[in-house]
Amino acid sequence: MNSPIRLSDNGLLLCPTCGWDATHVEIVRVAARLEDQDLNEITVNAITGQINTHGGEAAPAGPKEGEGRRQRVAVTGYCEEGQHSFAIVFTQHKGGTYVETVAPIPHEVVGHPPLS
Ligand SMILES: [Zn+2]
Repeated sequence: MNSPIRLSDNGLLLCPTCGWDATHVEIVRVAARLEDQDLNEITVNAITGQINTHGGEAAPAGPKEGEGRRQRVAVTGYCEEGQHSFAIVFTQHKGGTYVETVAPIPHEVVGHPPLS
């Protein structure tokens, strides 16, 4: 499902699935590459600071633009109300940056990579 990024009146990120304003953004996934080259999947855990490079799991891709031709940055999170997972995906394709929301995302968010 793709839905626009929604904010509360005071600037809180709202869950794309249920609209709850208690969300957590913890994992950043970067699909790094030069145009049309192989992807280097990088994961940054914003809680532990753990960084994994050349990981096997792909960053979420937007439903419209997919992988695009260049790099992709996905900020992933979940909401407290329903544990709904989501990603806000920035996809560089040619000269533009597409912004899409993906919910749910197809892999675990909380603690991945594991909290240590
Ligand atoms: Zn939710």
